[in-house]
Amino acid sequence: MLENLPSTTEDILQWTWGEIEPYYKELQDRPLNEDNVNSWLKDWSDLSRHVFEIQFRLEVLTTVDTTDTQSEEAYKKFFDDIFPNMQAGENALKQKMLASGLEPKGFEVALRNMRAEADLFRENNLSLLSEEQKTLLEYDKIMGAQTVQWNGEERTISQMYPLLLEKDRATREKAYRLVLERQFADFESLGEVWSQVMPMRKQIAANADLPDYRSYMWKQKLRFDYTPENAQSFHRAIEEVVVPAAARIRERRCKRLGIDTFRPWDTEVDPFGGEPIRPFKTMDELNAGTRSIFDKVDPELGKRYQIMVDEGLLDLENRKGKAPGGYCTLFPVSNRPFIFMNSVGTHADVQTLLHEGGHSFHVFETASIELFHNINTPMEFNEVASMAMEFLGTRYLFDSGMYTEVEAARARIEHLETNLIFWPYMAVVDSFQHWIYENHDLATDPVKTSEKWSEIYDRFMVGLDWTGLEQYKATRWQRQLHIYKIPFYYVEYGLAQLGAAQVWANSLSDYEGAVKAYRKALSLGSTVTLPELFQAANAKFAFDAPTLKHSVDLMEQTIEELESKL
Ligand SMILES: [Zn+2]
Repeated sequence: MLENLPSTTEDILQWTWGEIEPYYKELQDRPLNEDNVNSWLKDWSDLSRHVFEIQFRLEVLTTVDTTDTQSEEAYKKFFDDIFPNMQAGENALKQKMLASGLEPKGFEVALRNMRAEADLFRENNLSLLSEEQKTLLEYDKIMGAQTVQWNGEERTISQMYPLLLEKDRATREKAYRLVLERQFADFESLGEVWSQVMPMRKQIAANADLPDYRSYMWKQKLRFDYTPENAQSFHRAIEEVVVPAAARIRERRCKRLGIDTFRPWDTEVDPFGGEPIRPFKTMDELNAGTRSIFDKVDPELGKRYQIMVDEGLLDLENRKGKAPGGYCTLFPVSNRPFIFMNSVGTHADVQTLLHEGGHSFHVFETASIELFHNINTPMEFNEVASMAMEFLGTRYLFDSGMYTEVEAARARIEHLETNLIFWPYMAVVDSFQHWIYENHDLATDPVKTSEKWSEIYDRFMVGLDWTGLEQYKATRWQRQLHIYKIPFYYVEYGLAQLGAAQVWANSLSDYEGAVKAYRKALSLGSTVTLPELFQAANAKFAFDAPTLKHSVDLMEQTIEELESKL
């Protein structure tokens, strides 16, 4: 057992690398054998939990109050002093574990991941990888500097977004065109960044002795349970099953909006044209309403939400000095989740809270897993936890007292339509990236890349009219930051969404069984493989058209039922 690990959050946050290092050293020096491997892993896990606790606590402290200079200093200090050393320490322990040849029970998946990481590691890639990151900083700079003049004032691109919600179509169009033109003006400078990064990626893969960058990323993302061919089957299934459904949604929206063709500036405006839904005014109302939704999903989950309220594990209200966005993190020592949001009283806030709530229940469910290494669940399943909770929770919007019956129906239609429309777009981004790294040299040229983007976009985005805007459409891949900055990270959401839709479908025929299986799957953490996690949730880890069609049909049918309530 490791002695004298700091026990309070305050003490953990005071920890210096000088105090942490001896623990790593002791684990490194301790002889490792079949008899003590479990206690050695437990000690390693406890140490990792404590060190990661510093990082996650500081992330929370710096986002809940961006003016807290003391936490900001501590955070910077963490990254200067502790983080690189801790990574080296963790890495050395992984090497020691692998070298021991021991294969303790329940540690198979973690070992498999460690082996892949060790396999991929090349000394001569370190400088290339940091060179790549440095080059990509230019991408942020170019994107961040984009502003337009709107009614005499300078606005960022995000500040232009609310204009797409305007009822007046001419205003939407004017705003949208302005943004398109501004973004198009950076085509060449963004293209330059692209042409610099692509050769680096080719070299990174070659250094790792892999045939192409896709193979490299596949391994780096620990994708053992599906292949590029599986992903491509998924694209074809989406084309066959979801693309026509998405086109029907766009047609319906045209009718609701009273327009004859669906243009890019018509995608965000509320097709029902009603007043925006305002489900709550105070945080007490939001908490009470959300608690009652979770209670309905499963009383045990309602209680867990109450724990978060009682223990101050929620910071939901937008206020000055808070960082933007929303997330759910965890405190590894106490095994408690923490949800951060910027609610302002909209329906989107409730939807986000259901999503993050799903992530937080994942943390609760895995609290009994001893080893920190075993709660490293893959993204493809992490998002099942959250997206399934959105599906399950939205059924109880009306019961929560925050929505009228009509509002609840509108909100649910919007949720289902957004999910349906997402799949084809996801397929555009993902199949585009497959093409890029299958044609690495050709795709290094941003002009050729744009031509291909247009072609793929037209294949999947049926019913969206870009007439006269072709050159802008072709260059929009530059706006999808994943393509530049986190290659291949996107299909996870599409796969998770299919898992979530299956959990929801199950809940319609056997409610209790479906929720029980969902919770059981969450509780497995990362002790089993991805298909096994899906299976535990009574879902299929699938890429095929029939599985997809089953979900899509149900979603369309539900939309139709809900429309009769409007
Ligand atoms: Zn999420």
